[in-house]
Amino acid sequence: MIPAAFEYYRPTDIAGVIALLEEHGDEARVIAGGHSLIPMMKLRMADVEHLIDLQDISELVGITIEDGVVRIGAMTTQHDIINSDELAQAAPIMGEAAVLIADPQVRYMGTVGGNVANGDPANDMPGLMQCLNAQLHLTGPDGDRTVDARDFYESAFDTEREDDEVLTSVSFAAPKGGYAYEKQKRKIGDYATAAAAVQITKEDGKVATASIAMTNLADTPVWSEAAADALVGTPCDEAAIKAAIAGMLEDIDPTEDNRGPVAFKRHAASIVLGRAIARAWSRA
Ligand SMILES: Cc1cc2nc3c(=O)[nH]c(=O)nc-3n(C[C@H](O)[C@H](O)[C@H](O)COP(=O)(O)OP(=O)(O)OC[C@H]3O[C@@H](n4cnc5c(N)ncnc54)[C@H](O)[C@@H]3O)c2cc1C
Repeated sequence: MIPAAFEYYRPTDIAGVIALLEEHGDEARVIAGGHSLIPMMKLRMADVEHLIDLQDISELVGITIEDGVVRIGAMTTQHDIINSDELAQAAPIMGEAAVLIADPQVRYMGTVGGNVANGDPANDMPGLMQCLNAQLHLTGPDGDRTVDARDFYESAFDTEREDDEVLTSVSFAAPKGGYAYEKQKRKIGDYATAAAAVQITKEDGKVATASIAMTNLADTPVWSEAAADALVGTPCDEAAIKAAIAGMLEDIDPTEDNRGPVAFKRHAASIVLGRAIARAWSRA
């Protein structure tokens, strides 16, 4: 399908983007990689009269790691994430998750900012950001502000971001210990039926800290404190993993769709979480 007609803008700095967003209000949208927005426009599910391309804003691109803090510019692509040696050292879960997104063509274009800001519960980066306890940096007409990823998602496609704000970057403390991103999907290139992001630290043979987030199992990503709490202080044995899965199942709320009925999704969620915890522990 062909999208409805729209005006196209290509500003070269953030101030230019904010000015256009202020001028055109909710008739304007920014476009990053376009791999979520353009399909929505073609299906006439998104009505955008003024399209503001972020491609020429160089300050939105790049990965920096300073004093143990990782910062990723919003226009950094999933391909860049996979190919960053520094990120592979500082936060290897990012690459492990990014390589499971779609296919190489999508990953060349799809950005971290677009994936995080989109608010689609099927996107992989939001759960990942919650697992890493990331901060999301926004700029709008009233200046800059930061929102915790764990507080950002309100319901499907509905986030804390105001219409006239741009997500400029995400940042998080470089995680310690073991990690795993486990995703079950129907075929290569598909969104998750269920996915789990896990970070675990180990002390004296026991779990010292844990963080667990699930993807596409509710209308927002699910950061499950109950699942993580069930692991802390345990030797991460079978009983502890079972308790963590039970905690996670209390927190998710999947709905039936073409990826399966609720019972199947709960089963898939249990399997991916069990595998992710076991792999993260083996790396802790
Ligand atoms: C075939 C296919 C398979 C896919 N599979 C997966 C998958 O398995 N997992 C997954 O996570 N994703 C998947 N995707 C989606 C892909 O990762 C998208 O690229 C991503 O979700 C959105 O990033 P984008 O840069 O393309 O954003 P765009 O499509 O350009 O934008 C998406 C939305 O975010 C807004 N936005 C973009 N950037 C900003 C910003 N900096 N500040 C504020 N708002 C912004 C836009 O206005 C728009 O509403 C798939 C896409 C396709 C086409």
